[in-house]
Amino acid sequence: MTERNRCANCNSPRAANPCPRCGTPTELAHHSWEEPQLPPIDLIRKLAFEVGYAIGEHGSKERDLDVIAAPWVDTAVTSPQLLTHLANGLDARIVEVEDKPLGRTAATLLMRGWYRPLDISVCPMIESPTPTAQKE
Ligand SMILES: [Zn+2]
Repeated sequence: MTERNRCANCNSPRAANPCPRCGTPTELAHHSWEEPQLPPIDLIRKLAFEVGYAIGEHGSKERDLDVIAAPWVDTAVTSPQLLTHLANGLDARIVEVEDKPLGRTAATLLMRGWYRPLDISVCPMIESPTPTAQKE
């Protein structure tokens, strides 16, 4: 068993056969196959910070990079503006945008080049309580 084995179902390299995650028999990758890189998290954090968001990573980082974007300051831009800023800064296309429970927006971005997808879940903005309301 070498690292050239892959699970086609998980789209990930596997050291064991069958795939420990899903049970599908692994396949030997073509000798020229290179696993795509994950999108650069440091650049994603920097770009999000520029428009008022903080980024948290979650998920296995196998098939794709899953991140959560939370509005962090009062001047945070809207969710569509964040996604456009990220797409421009990463040289990526926004291939899917979906409404999720509790007002979240989920999107998939594909960078130009050989990268795994970036799945981003953007938390909604809520109004801060006014100073008078906090006194109660
Ligand atoms: Zn699998």
